[in-house]
Amino acid sequence: MGVADLTGRLTYNARLVPETPMLDQAQRILKDVFGYDAFRGNQAAIIERVASGGDALVLMPTGGGKSLCYQVPALLRDGLTVVVSPLIALMDDQVATLDELGVPAVALNSTLSAEAQREIADRLRQGEIKLLYLAPERLVQPRMLAFLQRLPIGLFAIDEAHCVSQWGHDFRPEYLQLGQLAELFPNVPRMALTATADMRTREEMVQRLHLQNAERFLSSFDRPNIFYRIVAKDQPRKQLLGFLAERRGDAGIVYCLSRKKVEEVASFLSEQGFPALPYHAGLANDLRAYHQKRFLNEEGLIMVATIAFGMGIDKPNVRFVAHLDLPKSLEAYYQETGRAGRDGLPADAWMAYGLQDVLLLKQMLSNSEGDERHKRIEQHKLDAMLSLCEETRCRRQTLLAYFDEELPQPCGHCDICTDGVQTWDATEPARLALSAIYRSGQRYGVGHLVDLLLGRDNEKVRAAGHQHLSVFGAGKQLSENEWRTLYRQLVARGLADVDLEGFGGLRLTEACRPLLRGEVTLELRRDLSTKAPKPAASAASQLVRGEERELWEALRALRRKLAEEHSVPPYVIFPDATLLEMLRSQPRSLADMAQVSGVGARKLERYGEAFLEVLGGGAGEAPRVVTDLRHELVSLARAGMTPAQIARQLNCGEKSVYNLLAESIASQQLSLEQALDLPEELLGEIQDAFLDGEGELPPVTEVAALFAGRVPEGVLHCVRAALQAEFES
Ligand code: ADP
Ligand code: ZN
Repeated sequence: MGVADLTGRLTYNARLVPETPMLDQAQRILKDVFGYDAFRGNQAAIIERVASGGDALVLMPTGGGKSLCYQVPALLRDGLTVVVSPLIALMDDQVATLDELGVPAVALNSTLSAEAQREIADRLRQGEIKLLYLAPERLVQPRMLAFLQRLPIGLFAIDEAHCVSQWGHDFRPEYLQLGQLAELFPNVPRMALTATADMRTREEMVQRLHLQNAERFLSSFDRPNIFYRIVAKDQPRKQLLGFLAERRGDAGIVYCLSRKKVEEVASFLSEQGFPALPYHAGLANDLRAYHQKRFLNEEGLIMVATIAFGMGIDKPNVRFVAHLDLPKSLEAYYQETGRAGRDGLPADAWMAYGLQDVLLLKQMLSNSEGDERHKRIEQHKLDAMLSLCEETRCRRQTLLAYFDEELPQPCGHCDICTDGVQTWDATEPARLALSAIYRSGQRYGVGHLVDLLLGRDNEKVRAAGHQHLSVFGAGKQLSENEWRTLYRQLVARGLADVDLEGFGGLRLTEACRPLLRGEVTLELRRDLSTKAPKPAASAASQLVRGEERELWEALRALRRKLAEEHSVPPYVIFPDATLLEMLRSQPRSLADMAQVSGVGARKLERYGEAFLEVLGGGAGEAPRVVTDLRHELVSLARAGMTPAQIARQLNCGEKSVYNLLAESIASQQLSLEQALDLPEELLGEIQDAFLDGEGELPPVTEVAALFAGRVPEGVLHCVRAALQAEFES
């Protein structure tokens, strides 16, 4: 069996791209500057393309790692990399992050004094700066263009490039002018990056930015770490509290449709002991900016917001996004939920949805400006959103299918996959519900219709003489809630509609005729009762286990303190994933610390000691955590999980998994065969390499070069540990 057969077992990104000197160098930058071990997904190929002077169009989901795609080439190429970014907040965040890494970067924006701007211009002329962040309107000023033409420019990176599309909701007219870069800087490579998935926007970017020669890098738009759940709206506030109860201390966003509701929900949550802030376009500018800043800088805050809170929320550790109202389209839903879990750690997308949502959105649609064609498109988008809510198919499959991506298997990580769906034959009740609409004259709302079906003899019913209708009292086999659900589903499926010109009553549509005539049957999903046993808490709330909590909080406290000292958000010091890995791998020395993913040379020097001290401080506690972890790891490995799977399961880096595997092999808790599934030939080759010399086994570093790019170094550690154990026994 050859090495190629390994691909299924060992995920090792760097092997996907052939080694070249440029990539070698890129790898070194990745490790030394950014502290990461391997490129993800398309990163290596993209970097190779632009670093060698080609244009690129990069389509990658939020959290996919777009920034590295231009930051690494910026360090590989001579001259200055100009990054076009639409928002000052985004630029400041990136510059702060680069600053912490020791990379010379600046943002030129209108908030700087003339003096400060002159100083930056000087540094640019001296060639002291590698990355310059600019807003598009600033870049296309003739003076700025002339200034840049006199500098050696290595690369243009256009971030959030979908802003060039008039079609999308983030349209920025200034982006249209970026097309001229092609003529003004014919020899400078240009790349456009976006997390927007739809085809139409994609083509518009190529046209308007003159990227006809750009190589396209399309990643999967799946966000595997997000757990999707959509529940039927019943008592929304109570349901929201239930959802939040398992997520105390986590940062998240709660989206509402109206400003009024934002205010109400924010104060409700605060009263209930959840720190929450409102955010909407009606707030004074400085208050809005203040709330945004607090959200970024503090931990565990909940932002209750309208969709005005959107692009530019770069906070990587947003642990959940909750919707109390239905978004208008799947594009919007994908984008809004996508703000959760940028850091790749488990996150939740939760939504409560009910009939009122559907009615409200339909109403807004019919009142909106715009021609018929436009309205029809919006209607289709809403229908797609509704079908996500009512579908019996895996949420992720439905969502990705909408973006033309096929997920062959149900995802196993959404409410439908984990809880299952129950469907029932709703043909007869649906016909009854439709006939109640018809018999009462197609002008009443759901409340009255349900009263009719249940035979409630009230004033409104009497006034209309409806107690004499044949449907009166004909629906006692279902409860009020069940009828409401049924009406919601009929509207969502387009079998009934709202009369928007009249009083908002329900009426029949053409589509319901076959059902009324008995030509088709109707299968509907049952709403899970809110009283049903609670499904297991999602992974997000289990990020840190009970016994680790204390040390985790200590690490976060140190990070907070350092962040304040440096006036940056905490995640700029270290992302959560890095802190988690410290917690799990328990580095004991600066050398160990350097192995932790996200600890580059500069940060090691600045913060390594301080974090080691915290880790060492709880000496009584800490080793127990490691022992527990090792115990768990041994059982997972025995159960046949690969190192990558174990890493995911235990929420730690693969490197740490290999280290622990090697330790467990050395202490003979685990055999090499249990730990790794290596092809015999390759195993023999590695063993030979270790046994080649005389006497002592050589250290891994001595044989590493022989296997570079073929197996992760951790494999070598494991094999060596096995040989060692053999010698000693
Ligand atoms: P995007 O801009 O595509 O939303 P970012 O560039 O902000 O994503 O990256 C998301 C997170 O992933 C960041 O915390 C970043 O440091 C991290 N990241 C990116 N590439 C890698 C990598 N190759 N290895 C480890 N972490 C990475
Ligand atoms: Zn699923």
